[in-house]
Amino acid sequence: MTDCLFCKIVAGEIPADKVYEDDQVLVFKDINPHAEVHLLMVPRLHVASLNELTTQHDGVIAHMMRTLPQLARQQGLKDGFRTIINTGKGGGQVIFHLHMHLLGGKNLPGFG
Ligand code: 5GP
Ligand code: ZN
Repeated sequence: MTDCLFCKIVAGEIPADKVYEDDQVLVFKDINPHAEVHLLMVPRLHVASLNELTTQHDGVIAHMMRTLPQLARQQGLKDGFRTIINTGKGGGQVIFHLHMHLLGGKNLPGFG
């Protein structure tokens, strides 16, 4: 996906404030944070959104879900954290490379 911003960040073509990476995912700070801690976790493999998932992605999705609480602990979020996945324009998705928002700490916005 040559035209995908997060693929470019994964490839190192665009800088990002990385906090974690392994063979399957990259995690970096959101450029426009909505809370004290606001990270984005992306799979290295390009997948546009939850709508495009197939069984071949089951492994990486499970890996992402299991890695989130470890990251939250590393960030000092002892009381908990929020995970958001926006899907499609109607869901508020702006970058069409699947990503999980990890939010926590002070200034965590309320719902509603
Ligand atoms: P979405 O609305 O697609 O779920 O969220 C996209 C997120 O990506 C937004 O929170 C936005 O602030 C973040 N973002 C957009 N462009 C960049 C960028 O170039 N670098 C980083 N680190 N975050 C970005
Ligand atoms: Zn991509």
